[in-house]
Amino acid sequence: FYRTLGANPGRSGHKMAVAAEKEIEDTRAVVTKLFGIKNSNRFIFTFNATDAINMGIKGLLKPGDHAITTYLEHNAVSRALNGLERKNIITVTKVRNSQDGFIDPDDIKNAITSKTRLIVMAHAPNVIGTIQPIADIVRAVKAKNPQTLVHTDAVQAAQFLDIDVKKLGVDLMTISAHKMYGPKGIGALYMRDGIKLEPIVYGGGQEYGLRSGTENVPAIVGFAKTVELAAEWKKNPENSHEIQRLRDYAFEEIRRVVPNAEMNGPAETRLPNNLNVFIPGVDPDTFLVALSEEGVCVSSGSACAARSQKLSHVIRATGKGRHSGCHLRVTLGKFSTREDADALVSAMKKHLSRT
Ligand code: PLP
Repeated sequence: FYRTLGANPGRSGHKMAVAAEKEIEDTRAVVTKLFGIKNSNRFIFTFNATDAINMGIKGLLKPGDHAITTYLEHNAVSRALNGLERKNIITVTKVRNSQDGFIDPDDIKNAITSKTRLIVMAHAPNVIGTIQPIADIVRAVKAKNPQTLVHTDAVQAAQFLDIDVKKLGVDLMTISAHKMYGPKGIGALYMRDGIKLEPIVYGGGQEYGLRSGTENVPAIVGFAKTVELAAEWKKNPENSHEIQRLRDYAFEEIRRVVPNAEMNGPAETRLPNNLNVFIPGVDPDTFLVALSEEGVCVSSGSACAARSQKLSHVIRATGKGRHSGCHLRVTLGKFSTREDADALVSAMKKHLSRT
């Protein structure tokens, strides 16, 4: 597509531009069908999930609105809301989670006021992967205030969970291709019929006026393929179970080397690819460098918070940030193997025997 669809889509009216535009609309049709959505203009391609999340927050909230979120969110959510609150445009309530990292629908319900316009929260937060009861939360929200909208960040969940917007009942949803083995630099925002957003970026009027700027056609085409392949992969639950078994194996092996290692978050009801372990008494920076030198690529904190090994705010929110040591986030995937898990454990052993 980079070679064949070089033209700027649409507006110039010549053949190549029309072909590129058609490719985008065909792609949107594929994606909306997979999402079970009728109106394709409800699905806006963005440059990444951060872009979609910001659009769904800043494009929706108006002066005087109240929003609710949690302490488990990606910075794209928390900083977008904090920014509006700092400018005194909105007020924000952050709902606390259980020690295991779950949000109770009643706590959300109790935080709703007549001014609550929006709830923004992850289907499964990136740091500990706890699967939140989104459908129950939506039911609780609508029972208290039918005007309140729910925007779920399904970036981490999309590869593993059913993200049918109708079943979940959500009003807005964000996803990103690169968390589903697709290209980087392409995300999308779904919004239910009837929801109107103000653009947060103005320009040439692409994406129904909501996300101006020349579209990244090859990435959009790749996005559709990504969603298609993920839907196919999810049809067989064994695919997920296999990753989960490998994750559990990795944790058991870590515990053999570090008997006082602790799992952050629960053993169940979390994304199968997410392992977050506390290794007491080690310095996170030197530990991560040592693992990396052995070819093991894991992180502490949030990989998405650029170049920061600071203690993740999510770990702090689970009450586990008090002791010194490293909170190691190990992300597995469909290409991970037992050998990878063994390599992680032997690299850990090597470093720990030296220190
Ligand atoms: N939300 C969650 C839960 C994420 O894990 C990430 C990135 O890892 C994002 C949002 C931001 O995604 P992007 O990097 O596509 O902007």
